[in-house]
Amino acid sequence: MKSVLKCVQSSCERKYPLLSGRNLCECGGLLEVDHSEVLAQLRWQNWMRILERRWGAKNLPDSSGVWRYRDLILPGFPDEKIISRAEGNTRVYEFSKLAEMAAVRKLMFKHEGENPTGSFKDRGMTVVVSWAKHLGSRALLCASTGNTAASVASYARAAGMRAYILMPSERVALGKVSQAIAYGARVIKVRGNFDACMKLVAAHGSELGLHVVNSINPVRLEGQKTIIWELLEQLHWQLPNWIILPGGNLGNVSAFGKALREIFLAGVIDYSQMPRLAVIQAKGANPFYRAFRENFTMRFVLPEAKTIASAIEIGVPINHSKAAQAIRFTRGVVEKVSDEEIMEAKALLDREGVGAEPASCATLAGLLKLRASGIIEESDFVVCILTGHFLKDQTATLNFHESDSPLANRSVVIEPTLDELKKVL
Ligand SMILES: *Cc1c(COP(=O)(O)O)cnc(C)c1O
Ligand SMILES: [Zn+2]
Repeated sequence: MKSVLKCVQSSCERKYPLLSGRNLCECGGLLEVDHSEVLAQLRWQNWMRILERRWGAKNLPDSSGVWRYRDLILPGFPDEKIISRAEGNTRVYEFSKLAEMAAVRKLMFKHEGENPTGSFKDRGMTVVVSWAKHLGSRALLCASTGNTAASVASYARAAGMRAYILMPSERVALGKVSQAIAYGARVIKVRGNFDACMKLVAAHGSELGLHVVNSINPVRLEGQKTIIWELLEQLHWQLPNWIILPGGNLGNVSAFGKALREIFLAGVIDYSQMPRLAVIQAKGANPFYRAFRENFTMRFVLPEAKTIASAIEIGVPINHSKAAQAIRFTRGVVEKVSDEEIMEAKALLDREGVGAEPASCATLAGLLKLRASGIIEESDFVVCILTGHFLKDQTATLNFHESDSPLANRSVVIEPTLDELKKVL
């Protein structure tokens, strides 16, 4: 294959064959799939026409919103080895009330919760599981706050592989655990937080002979790049000024940065039009926000990360260095929001009738904050990425609506009589 694995540390830049299946460089740095050779040969106008033709195809791999872009994912990967559930193809919503409230020119939400298992993780998982199977791996391993677990459990089933999942024994949303269990993965509950699970997986995955599918795996991020390309196609290449997403382990922002960099290198967009990335973290789990405030001259580790948005309850983000590059390259920003702000934003978003899980709603909370501080302006076109499905975390939703928040929609209980019914109508 033409593309290779390359260390992201500028002081190193070692290269390895893609087939080596490595996750980390000898120097300990993160690796990424380097497509420079393919990009140099890509005739963009042609590729756009090919993409146009593939859009709306009825059969795999073109019907997948990930594999449609396969020329820049794993170029040369055999089509018949693709394990796909036709993931991607997610909707873009415009909720006009929210645009009015945020006072921006245009506001859209791309809903990655509409993937087969209810989160964007499926976009990365289809690629990493196809790849692992092709390399001859028999079993997959991950640490998860829940959505990776649901996704790997599903794709392992499609591939006929075993999946081992380490998740915190507490504080994982029920919707996600129930998927992992029901889909047949081996769920191992660890008395510790996500970071403790991740540390075990990153340090010992390969010595255990298991293929690690966390976002430390550079191949997984290749699939997640397609969120950006699919979005831009849906927008007919009308580029937004801002793309806002939640940040936990920082795999997604790294993938977004890479997707934008590659289409810039291919000459599709001018640097002056480059959408800026805004990563939103929860106040109680904000190591990347802190690093941003220090201009990325320092790195932070939070041993006790805590937030209601369990998908981003991460104190030691594994993709820090790639994510910092993505923020720098897109002149992006990192903001933090409180759990109250997240849940209020969720109430507003849910009320539009589609909704999303708490971590996703940090995007709207962050937008309101970045508008208030003037970093995002009234003339801006903004896209928020909703990362997970509304039904993933019903506990958080129902607890909020039983609280005394002015946005709570409390239900009432009555006796089965007309009198009582009339009283509440
Ligand atoms: C995994 C996940 C995130 C965090 O993404 P990272 O790539 O780890 O930063 C955010 N929201 C949801 C719903 C997720 O499942
Ligand atoms: Zn290196």
